[in-house]
Amino acid sequence: MRYVSTRGQAPVLNFEEAMLSGLARDGGLYLPETILTLDGLETLDGLPYEEVAFRVIRPFTGDCFTDAELRGAIDRAYARIAHAARAPLVQLAPGHHLLELFHGPTLAFKDFAMQLIAQLFEIALKRSGQKITIVGATSGDTGSAAIEAFRGIDNVDVFIMYPHGRVSEVQRRQMTTPPNANVHALAVTGHFDDCQARLKDLFNDHAFRDEVGLAGVNSINWSRVVAQIVYYFTAAASLGMRPTDFCVPTGNFGDILAGSIAKRMGLPVRRLIVATNQNDILHRALTTGEYRVGEVAPSISPSMDIQVSSNFERALFLAYGGDAGAIRQLMDELKAGGFTISQGALETLREEFRSGRVSEEETLETIRRTREATGEVLCPHSAIGVAVAEQHIEPGVPMVTLATAHPAKFPDAVERAIGIRPPLPPHMAELFDLPERVSRVENDVEALKSLILERRTQ
Ligand SMILES: *Cc1c(COP(=O)(O)O)cnc(C)c1O
Repeated sequence: MRYVSTRGQAPVLNFEEAMLSGLARDGGLYLPETILTLDGLETLDGLPYEEVAFRVIRPFTGDCFTDAELRGAIDRAYARIAHAARAPLVQLAPGHHLLELFHGPTLAFKDFAMQLIAQLFEIALKRSGQKITIVGATSGDTGSAAIEAFRGIDNVDVFIMYPHGRVSEVQRRQMTTPPNANVHALAVTGHFDDCQARLKDLFNDHAFRDEVGLAGVNSINWSRVVAQIVYYFTAAASLGMRPTDFCVPTGNFGDILAGSIAKRMGLPVRRLIVATNQNDILHRALTTGEYRVGEVAPSISPSMDIQVSSNFERALFLAYGGDAGAIRQLMDELKAGGFTISQGALETLREEFRSGRVSEEETLETIRRTREATGEVLCPHSAIGVAVAEQHIEPGVPMVTLATAHPAKFPDAVERAIGIRPPLPPHMAELFDLPERVSRVENDVEALKSLILERRTQ
């Protein structure tokens, strides 16, 4: 399978090349040239998660990995998810189901993609003899998932910048307690936006980029989207492959985009519902056609506090019928604050997507209400999904809401809602006893570069 950039001016790559490069050289995002339909949907129900993953992912990887390599990577990745079903589906109410994606080692859905791509990186790098330095910026969940997945992986160093004092204690400890020498947590003086700006500086310094073999694993990396397609298939299979709606708590549009790709592969996805917090650029865009960047307002669902939703570019590319010139134009306008989606593309998007926005108070209320009605304790992100899903449920169409994190990862918000601090699952109980290891660094690209050069182990 060949991959093309949404902006049409970068080399066409295979899966492995797209995975190792992350962002396309023209600033665009890679997508498969064609999306193949998957046969045998009716045979998926009851299969192990790993087998469904193999069947769904196989067509995307082309001849980059042998069947045995891919199966091995999938098995090692998902053995670390502490639930036999990996992504269990639980019923909240008649017709409403919750897809629990938080049983991985860092308690958020990002483990599903990060664990797998770490295994694929290791196979690819062993074969080529290449050594790379992964650098990422995080507001919490991405960084911990990347560190947990890449720790101890050969030929890789992983540096994660997070804003000092601005991530939760669980998130920080997940980044600072792994003992592996190839893991480096960097506490940057500043905000998440500063970390992201410094990351861009590093990638734009081509000499440095080549010297350390810089690689990115943020949510625009196509290989992460591929891994997230799988659980749409397992969920639909266990509901009998009927037309099904999915409601997805959304930030960078990666998780919900995976649902859109699943639909194009022939899965009976009826509608995809974008659930946002008060940072509602996607809800506004789908409602009005105006994609306009505002100020980020920090919320109790911090993993969805974004203004520019990077993977939305892929949905736009598909809605504009693959017109890379149109996407280049929109992205130029975005630099000046925003753009208007064309009428035709907006109609295409609205056929597939619905959206809703949830206030802070409604989020807490949904955590309270859901616990009372079902016993299920939701994290604030998942609660936003449940609240929006409830507004969109239609009789006869099953609704699946994606639960993106474990409540214990956001204990302050959950305690505010129900008066109880949710305990960490048993496999993580020692998190608060382990020693931490972190480097403080100024919000300065030169300081970062010297630290990376000095610390890398490869
Ligand atoms: C990353 C994250 C999201 C948003 O996912 P996107 O793919 O960026 O839309 C939602 N909830 C949690 C808990 C997350 O960590």
